[in-house]
Amino acid sequence: MEIKKVVVIGSGTMGSGIAAQLCNANIPVTLLDLTTEISEKARERIQKSRPPLLIDKSKINNINVGNINDNFNLVNEADWIVEAVVERIDIKHQIYEKIFKERKAGSIVSSNTSSIPISILSEKLSTEDKKDFCITHFFNPVRYMDLLEIVKSENNDFVKINSLKKFCEEDLGKGSIVCNDTPGFLGNRIGVYAMQVAMTEAFRMKLSIEEADAIFGRPMGIPKTGVFGLYDLIGIDLMADVLKSFIKELSKEDEFQEVAKEISLVKKLIETGYTGRKGKGGFYRMNKVENKKILEAINLETGEYSPTKKINIKFDKPGLQSLINRKDKYGDYAWSVISKIIKYASSLVPEITDEFNDIDEAMRLGFNWNKGPFEMLEEIGVNNFFDKIENYKGNKFLEDLAVTKNENFHGVRQKYTDIETLGKVKKTATNIDGNSSAKIYRFKDYNIVEFTTKANALDYNSMDALKKATDKPLIIINESMQFSAGVNLSYTMEFAEKGDFKSIEKFVRYFQETCKNLKYSNHPVVSAPSGLTLGGGFEVLVHSNFVASHTNIVIGLVETMVGLIPAGGGCKEMLARWLETEEAKNDPHYAPLKVFDIIGYGKTATSPVEAEPMKYLRSEDKKIMSRNSLLEVSRKILEENRDFKPPAENTFKLPGKVVKDEMIKLLDKLYNEKVILDHGMKVATELANVLSGGDTTIDKTLSEEDLFKLELNAFMTLIETKETQDRIKHTLTTGKPLIN
Ligand code: NAD
Repeated sequence: MEIKKVVVIGSGTMGSGIAAQLCNANIPVTLLDLTTEISEKARERIQKSRPPLLIDKSKINNINVGNINDNFNLVNEADWIVEAVVERIDIKHQIYEKIFKERKAGSIVSSNTSSIPISILSEKLSTEDKKDFCITHFFNPVRYMDLLEIVKSENNDFVKINSLKKFCEEDLGKGSIVCNDTPGFLGNRIGVYAMQVAMTEAFRMKLSIEEADAIFGRPMGIPKTGVFGLYDLIGIDLMADVLKSFIKELSKEDEFQEVAKEISLVKKLIETGYTGRKGKGGFYRMNKVENKKILEAINLETGEYSPTKKINIKFDKPGLQSLINRKDKYGDYAWSVISKIIKYASSLVPEITDEFNDIDEAMRLGFNWNKGPFEMLEEIGVNNFFDKIENYKGNKFLEDLAVTKNENFHGVRQKYTDIETLGKVKKTATNIDGNSSAKIYRFKDYNIVEFTTKANALDYNSMDALKKATDKPLIIINESMQFSAGVNLSYTMEFAEKGDFKSIEKFVRYFQETCKNLKYSNHPVVSAPSGLTLGGGFEVLVHSNFVASHTNIVIGLVETMVGLIPAGGGCKEMLARWLETEEAKNDPHYAPLKVFDIIGYGKTATSPVEAEPMKYLRSEDKKIMSRNSLLEVSRKILEENRDFKPPAENTFKLPGKVVKDEMIKLLDKLYNEKVILDHGMKVATELANVLSGGDTTIDKTLSEEDLFKLELNAFMTLIETKETQDRIKHTLTTGKPLIN
């Protein structure tokens, strides 16, 4: 079965998200709703979406819009018809009746329902039609959430289900997990249960919401929104509806019932319009006191709000073992929540899936957890777990494990896919070296470096790992959300605040040396980015010999936003790329001015398609929809380059003062228009000096070292200023840059 054309019915949040992802994959898609006006509006929304659902604006041309009365005949041309209308069974049944009358033989039909069982959705279909009907449960926003649950029934044609899975995996880039027809499938069943446990235990153990969020967050490998923050984000009223549906669908004996009971404070919040971020506030609210915005948190016992308190929990050691063994309320809470999640998830195998492994992966892909429940159990240690756990009678999975006490029960990861992913390879590779910022794995005849810091911010140790790992062909890749958000600014600021600029200079030199080593070592280096690839992260990428990029990246040199300029070779490499263009050959000012515009404004691209015109990526760099495939593609690149020879070093002919004057003229105009202020002017002038080649003329030849020196000098001049330090501090505390 080949999928060449798709019809999506229902153009709301999910329908338009699915249609946009199909556009990204260059699959023509028709979006039908009650009226063409509604689907036309959806198309406009897709175009304007932020973060963008499209990898490039031109992709919108793959969408055709229409309505279910005049244009339903288009269903007949589709290989796959996705129903994404409101969650109402009567409406869904009416649509199916029309679809199965109209569709072409052999096409596949799926629903995006999040709560209606396949048995009920398909109850009116003939046995023949049931073969081609399944659930494809995408997560919002579709481009960015990697999980897709494909829910099958015993009536399905499994060959067809598998080819749909392959299509969704390879063309749409989704981590596609096939599972059984049970309430909430995998992700929501465990994810919502986990949220409820985290919430009810916070009430029971009398933790404040800030305390609960501080534990049920990063320390547990869960996004920092925590539980109450996530409740506010999703919508407290929406969560109440989700719970009602679980209560109705699940048996009376299901453990879920215990944690889904109505809580009077939650009921009151909904009744008074405190439904979360979209309402007046929720567990947290933004209050205005004397014209100042103050974030407040609710007291779970009294229901009163007061300013949030920063919770400073000291951790001796990272990891779940030390967390659950703490002799304080935080340790008790963590153990109670984690053990309940592990107990519940394991009690559902094989009912919801035969592979417990799939539950872990669903939690990673759909809820951005670092580890799923079974991996948490593995980390805690099977023996440790059974030493601590009290009652697990009737839980067959745990009873069996209690007999074998097999610490290695978990086995390989990501069983749901045939692709040889980083997650699978890491489990069998040798961990040959590493430090607090990066790990080096050896697999077969090549090395892998995975950064391990928060947002993969880079420091001396990250560079150390990269340098060591070039003794073999190298792939720089990681499983966490970001490739690298850039140099670790707090690390840099620690030196700056002590006035220790020598150490900063040493670090920048080392960064430059490492980048140069990546480019010119005797072995090929591949960077395989996904997510943020900014500043220093981009500089690592741009010095790699090859790139295999995920389609979901945010890439660029953003140093000017914090009052700095790229000094790890970012200016140098961008100049080299632009100097190769035909325009640059005819006009010596062309390349420096182009790069000045890109770096000066800190321009970023939100996909490889957008990155190419700026030359952040090259046409030969691989662009891949499926994140899971990044390692395989990178390995293939290494295999194809067994006789790799490092490139010759670049040389630069730059115009010097004449082009710098041109840049300054541009800056003067911006300064007069107050687009930039004094310090912005200073930063941009330093950048102009680097990109013009400094004290040079067009007949002179500059080496890479010369460019590195210019970058370093400009960087050091700027980092020593109070204004740049203030900008960095502002970014570190607010997460946002101070522009101008
Ligand atoms: P939505 O309310 O944003 O959109 C529903 C769309 O269906 C609307 O545009 C509406 O005009 C259209 N519609 C209603 N009746 C129709 C009909 N008879 N024919 C054609 N179109 C019709 O809803 P949504 O959030 O996109 O949810 C759609 C489906 O996806 C639901 O089954 C929901 O449970 C499921 N789902 C939602 C999410 C989510 O986060 N929103 C996540 C996963 C699954």
